[in-house]
Amino acid sequence: MTCEDAHLYMHDYISGELASEHRKNLMDHMDDCPDCKEFFRQTEYIQQTMRNHMQYKAPFELQNTISSLLTNA
Ligand SMILES: [Zn+2]
Repeated sequence: MTCEDAHLYMHDYISGELASEHRKNLMDHMDDCPDCKEFFRQTEYIQQTMRNHMQYKAPFELQNTISSLLTNA
C-alpha cells in the first residue's frame, strides 16, 4: 500500500465505511509508517472535533437566542 492509498483508506475508516479486508492493510501500513500514523491521528481528531461541534452547534445557537431575548426583555 502506498501512503496515498493509506490516506484514502483513512477517510473511509473514520467514517466507518472501510471494508475489513482493507482495515488490516491500513493498520499494517501505519505500523511501518510513522507519517501516516500521525496523519491518521490528526485526521481522526479533526473528524471528532467537527462531529462534536455539529452536535453542540444547535444548543449553542439556542443559548445565544435565549440570552439575547433575556437581555432585550
Ligand atoms: Zn505511509
